[in-house]
Amino acid sequence: MSDAGILGHVSASQVKTYRACKRQWWYEKVARLPKAMGGGKDTGTALHHEMRAYLAGEIPASRLSPLAAPGVPELPLPGTTLAEHALEPPPVAAGLPWTGSIDWLSPPQASGEWAGIPWVGDHKTTKNYTYCLDKEELAKDVQMISYAYYASIKWSLPESGFVRLTHVYYHTDPGPRTKPIKVVDTKAQVATIKSLWGEFETVVQDMKATAKAPTAAQVEGNAKACWNYGGCPYRSRCPSNKSAAPAPETPEVISVHRLLFPRKAAK
Ligand code: SF4
Repeated sequence: MSDAGILGHVSASQVKTYRACKRQWWYEKVARLPKAMGGGKDTGTALHHEMRAYLAGEIPASRLSPLAAPGVPELPLPGTTLAEHALEPPPVAAGLPWTGSIDWLSPPQASGEWAGIPWVGDHKTTKNYTYCLDKEELAKDVQMISYAYYASIKWSLPESGFVRLTHVYYHTDPGPRTKPIKVVDTKAQVATIKSLWGEFETVVQDMKATAKAPTAAQVEGNAKACWNYGGCPYRSRCPSNKSAAPAPETPEVISVHRLLFPRKAAK
């Protein structure tokens, strides 16, 4: 099977995982081993559903949940933006389509502080603002820069142009002294966006080579990533874990996993 056949497409989350630990990415996207879903996933999914409906003008702000409602002043007006907009046609990175869905994508503004600048935004749920990106990190974030790259193509922006980037963080367990939301808002210049996109393409090229590795042991691991985001879901089988059970990553077992867990279509 060709590397393009194994991968099919790439995404921001794949590139983030790969940068953190190549072996974790291999387990997830090449061996296609399932990973447990955290409880926070349901909360985040529900918030995204109601925000999509609100931004599309399908429900009023008065019907939003207590978790979602505080974000309204920070968002585009309903009906003025593309809500949960799929990257279509997808940008291409090292020959592979880059898939994704932007929580909101507003066309270049007609006037005001953001005149001539499109706006990409993302809703995030969190239990701790400590882990929020700051402005500098947001302006280099793989997901947001891939969205900004898409916007720069969609509206044929010049290299001197800008794209506005926003994260709205919704606290899922605010105490009496915790603000219900936190907003991180910045902009990135198109020349920088294109330069970062070039770096992502280099990573994707490396992913295509790594996808050919027949076993996890032949893929570089990163012990510093083992406890990221609550812990790597593949710790119990990873060769880096000395107490791990023997890992069944033979090509035959990979084939069985692919039968059991066929690739899902990208959203
Ligand atoms: S346990 Fe650590 S080294 Fe092994 S795949 Fe997970 S993150 Fe990588």
